[in-house]
Amino acid sequence: MTAMPLLVWRDSAHFDHRGDRPCVLCGQDTPLRSHQREPVHKVCAEDWTETNPDQIRFVSDAQPRRTDSDVHA
Ligand SMILES: [Zn+2]
Repeated sequence: MTAMPLLVWRDSAHFDHRGDRPCVLCGQDTPLRSHQREPVHKVCAEDWTETNPDQIRFVSDAQPRRTDSDVHA
C-alpha cells in the first residue's frame, strides 16, 4: 500500500476565474487548472498521478519557505 500523493495547489494560478471547463480526466466542469493550464480536478490529478507515478503531468506548487508565521497557518 502506498499513500495517495496529495498535490499542493494553493497558488491562485490553479483557479481560473474565467469559468469552468471540462476536466481532462473525468469530463465534469471544473474551475481548477494544472500548472500547464489543463482543466482538471485536484482529486482527478492526484488519482492520475497515483496511477502514473513515473509521470510529472501534474505537480505540486513549489513549497514556500517556511517561517515562524507559518506555524498557525
Ligand atoms: Zn475531474
